[in-house]
Amino acid sequence: MASGGGIQIPSRLPLLLTHEGVLLPGSTVRFSVDSPRNMQLVSQRLLKGTSLKSTIIGVIPNTRDPQHDADDLPALHKVGTAGIAVQVVGSNWPKPHYSLLITGLCRFRVSSLLKERPFVMAEVEQLDKLEQYTSPAAEGELDGELGELSLKFYQTAIQLLGMLDMSVPVVAKFRRLLDSLPRETLPDVVASMIRTSNKEKLQVLDALSLEERFKKALPMLTRQIEGLKLLQKTRKISPDNEKRVLSVRKGAALPGRRFNLDEEDEDDDGDDVASLERKVNGANMPEAAFKVCLKELKRLKKMPQSMPEYALTRNYLDLMVDLPWNKSTKDCLDIRAARTLLDNDHYAMDKLKRRVLEYLAVRQLKTSLKGPILCFTGPPGVGKTSVGRSIARTLGREFHRIALGGICDQSDIRGHRRTYVGSMPGRIINGLKTVGVNNPVFLLDEVDKLGKSLQGDPAAALLEVLDPEQNHSFTDHYLNVAFDLSQVLFIATANTTATIPPALLDRMEVLQVPGYTQEEKVEIAHRHLIPNQLDQHGLTPQQLHIPQETTQDVISRYTREAGVRSLERKIGAICRAVAVKVAEGHLLTKTETLTPESSTRPGDKATPPEMPIVIDHVALKDILGPPLFEMEVSERLTLPGVALGLAWTPFGGEIMFVEASRMEGEGQLTLTGQLGDVMKESAHLAISWLRANAKTYQLTNMAGGPDPLEGTDIHLHFPAGAVTKDGPSAGVTIVTCLASLFSGRLVRSDIAMTGEITLRGLVLPVGGIKDKVLAAHRAGVKRVILPKRNEKDLEELPANVRADLDFITAGSLDEVLNASFDGGFPGATSAHTHPQLTSKL
Ligand code: ADP
Repeated sequence: MASGGGIQIPSRLPLLLTHEGVLLPGSTVRFSVDSPRNMQLVSQRLLKGTSLKSTIIGVIPNTRDPQHDADDLPALHKVGTAGIAVQVVGSNWPKPHYSLLITGLCRFRVSSLLKERPFVMAEVEQLDKLEQYTSPAAEGELDGELGELSLKFYQTAIQLLGMLDMSVPVVAKFRRLLDSLPRETLPDVVASMIRTSNKEKLQVLDALSLEERFKKALPMLTRQIEGLKLLQKTRKISPDNEKRVLSVRKGAALPGRRFNLDEEDEDDDGDDVASLERKVNGANMPEAAFKVCLKELKRLKKMPQSMPEYALTRNYLDLMVDLPWNKSTKDCLDIRAARTLLDNDHYAMDKLKRRVLEYLAVRQLKTSLKGPILCFTGPPGVGKTSVGRSIARTLGREFHRIALGGICDQSDIRGHRRTYVGSMPGRIINGLKTVGVNNPVFLLDEVDKLGKSLQGDPAAALLEVLDPEQNHSFTDHYLNVAFDLSQVLFIATANTTATIPPALLDRMEVLQVPGYTQEEKVEIAHRHLIPNQLDQHGLTPQQLHIPQETTQDVISRYTREAGVRSLERKIGAICRAVAVKVAEGHLLTKTETLTPESSTRPGDKATPPEMPIVIDHVALKDILGPPLFEMEVSERLTLPGVALGLAWTPFGGEIMFVEASRMEGEGQLTLTGQLGDVMKESAHLAISWLRANAKTYQLTNMAGGPDPLEGTDIHLHFPAGAVTKDGPSAGVTIVTCLASLFSGRLVRSDIAMTGEITLRGLVLPVGGIKDKVLAAHRAGVKRVILPKRNEKDLEELPANVRADLDFITAGSLDEVLNASFDGGFPGATSAHTHPQLTSKL
């Protein structure tokens, strides 16, 4: 087969070693090149060479994976195809590589290897003639058996083309090529165009005699025809659709582009709708919903897939079959187990747990409970969400949280109508789809933060969801059929009831979850938060120990909150710092200690730090930085004209300083600190009462005159000026503060107070006593003045707080002033007895 004269390829060829794709003479293949030798070949030979000869290389197929060819040369395939590199493209991403487009010329055999580096060079022997491409096809050139074989091959190829669509350019080009190319080139060209595996192409490449080549390629061609016939039979499509070119694969080109005659992406639309229909039938939905689905299905079948509405309808039907119309979990309620679980999960909160158990017990006795919706109300981080989750667990139900904060569009609850582009179901239906059952526990988080806008009132939509009389036929706008929500257990959480729309509040039973005392926080930290955080950080109690005193320090000096969320974060920060030490301990040499300061402590001398690492106050300061809060109460109360009040906020109770100063002026009162109207009125009330009683209490102005306001301006300030403050409960504090200013005496440094005042000097009850007293306790106050009629609220306080604090209950301002100053207040004892009045508020 070796060619005698004629066109010759160079006898020495650089070799490109490929492990994917086989180049056959007459075809063009793109190779990606990234192995070291091949890269060298491209950069040093192809890119540097200037002659046509330097673009001719030998392609040796089927070598080992390029990763392995860095060292010794693998055994090479003996036969390859000489090709001309028609295009070289380089890229650096994701790693440096070249992409080569090579057109095959003729076969060659490797005679001997000349060098292996930087790329492989070999002495080669040309096996095919090259003239066949240049001279036009000569009829009858092949004769005898070979002639018959080639004719048969040609006819089979024509038969294949007959089954394809001539209007496709690739097919037309194939047809032209078939007629113009000499017959002996056909096996190579056809084998590279029809769908064949690399192994089959290699067989064609290795078939050195023409006869063998025809014999190898012919079965591939007939297989393709049979495959196409089978496909057409199964499709039973109309005759003009029969001729199809199936997918045209990228990657192969000359003489035509390679296309494969296999199936195009299966047009499985029909099956899809059928399977959807099956699902609709099996979804066990109520009659009304089923009818709607059937109607939509009918529409879907008639619609062409390209219509935008097709996708909409499909999505709708998908949702309908996904919804848990009749799927539910079985309740496994055992009150005793529920009690244990609630107790195990949560420390303290006895009142809340008792009410939750009552609620669950009634549910157990009467399964279809149309009871109230529980709404847990309290500061952040007191475990509202976490109790909700525990309830789901005790019932064995799925849990889903719906965050309502900031929602101001009723479509968020009830969905958009399907006429809108991008319409979606509301959060309730979405939640049901997510949990996959129709009796989950839904936690409606932050109902107090629902917004309102032009798009309708989401609270009104929630009403329908929560009302047991209506929610068995809740209609989401997107679904447009009723869904029964009566099995869903709704629980709501809020920080305050003040901003919950009244109609919504009316449907709910509010359970107050007050903040925790210092002692409760310590217990919660040691029973729950520390073990949880250790677990989350991959630590064990053998590695980290946080003593109680440290926890107390964290609580009082690094956090000031009603709940335990930032306490949890601080413990997390400690765990992270220790995790670094523990991890380093595994790797480093034994020279380090946990902190420079703590190195002085015995037992911490060697690293890996001796286990467990104990966090004392030095280590604490090192990890969390300097304390964020100091016990500032006694320091602040060192001047006349400062008093400590107690305030209630949605985030728990807080202590609040009231400051007053006076200067020469015309009797004006200035108030600062973002006060609401009620608070301003309290300030005016306080001044009026003090002026009226100035004589009794020996209050004077700056010059010592009997009217405190004569020739004097007064400025009252409530620090933390960025926070809006309102409410009547600061009345007694303002009076005390001004009395101190006018008398020049100091208010006791360990006392805080709350209470509303009247013009006649009575002290009226106020709300939020528990939160306020807890705040006072947190701040280290020792005595608390409360209105007399709030005495009953003291029972709710934890025993240890009651024991720690002195409570003074006051019915009149006399008593307040008397208790606020060391040694009583002059005049207060001699004060006339007030008639016993009861407020009608
Ligand atoms: P809320 O919903 O009230 O804002 P979370 O339920 O998210 O607060 O609680 C915050 C974290 O505090 C959770 O990790 C929770 O487990 C923990 N926590 C709160 N109260 C308690 C408690 N009484 N016992 C145990 N862990 C608690």
